[in-house]
Amino acid sequence: MIVLRTRGELRSALATAARPVGFVPTMGWLHAGHRSLMARSRAADATTVASIFVNPRQFGSPEDLARYPRNEARDLAICEGESVDIVFAPPVEEVYPPGFDTTVRVGAISRPLEGAARPGHFEGVATVVAILFELVGADRAYFGQKDAQQVMVIRQMARDLAMPTEVIACPTVREPDGLALSSRNGRLTPEQRAAAPVLRRALLAGRAVREAGRTDAEGPGEGSGGVSAAALREAMRRVLATEPLAVADYVSCADAATLGELDRVDGPALLSIAALFGTVRLIDNEPLD
Ligand code: AMP
Repeated sequence: MIVLRTRGELRSALATAARPVGFVPTMGWLHAGHRSLMARSRAADATTVASIFVNPRQFGSPEDLARYPRNEARDLAICEGESVDIVFAPPVEEVYPPGFDTTVRVGAISRPLEGAARPGHFEGVATVVAILFELVGADRAYFGQKDAQQVMVIRQMARDLAMPTEVIACPTVREPDGLALSSRNGRLTPEQRAAAPVLRRALLAGRAVREAGRTDAEGPGEGSGGVSAAALREAMRRVLATEPLAVADYVSCADAATLGELDRVDGPALLSIAALFGTVRLIDNEPLD
């Protein structure tokens, strides 16, 4: 495994790398979710590249950026354990050299949900991923379904800008109690950690309303107009409200293609929740096909 720090080193290493090349962008503090992406690439690609870069442009406040956990030595050991070939771990000024003045702004898909809750977030994400895609020139890049909207934003960007990298979404890796793995989980107090699986329970309660509605609709005399999206949101909110340490930011039942809020669920949908546990903001989602 080689660790590279500059744009130039990365570009030259990739010029001669065995193809196909798979790429896993991360912000470090690696966990089993990141490892699953690396393993996917390892299994499918001749060369696996991972990046470790805490991207200042995607944080809303300097405090949030400063709080983000980091441990490069541990991250490199994890990459080594997943047989990553190349790690790109640049300093900030290598990604954003003096005079850097370009922003990639993706349209409608980046505006609801996380886009509305965290202004500028997806501009930061799209800008850094565009730079990384250009430097790595990967055949495929792997992202977690845990950040469902992020995958959609990157896909839109790659398609619109004719980037040759295929964007692949991989399943969310969870703790045994259902909590999605996240670099932020380590900042939860023991009480908040015990409360956090409520996100998963709430999403599953939303799914259950959809399943029950679908069964009803199959009965004689029922139309196929789908289930009320408000009923799904209400079910999710009710479960969230059972946990006083969880403060809901948003509870969404949206069209899976546009992320626009639905009236009726009669096709593919995405349930998603963002909630604060103290100062720690967690997100999770559940796709409904
Ligand atoms: P991050 O380091 O948080 O920017 O995440 C890097 C990549 O890992 C993103 O594509 C995330 O969606 C993905 N990821 C984060 N958590 C998980 C998880 N629990 N399961 C699967 N992928 C994840």
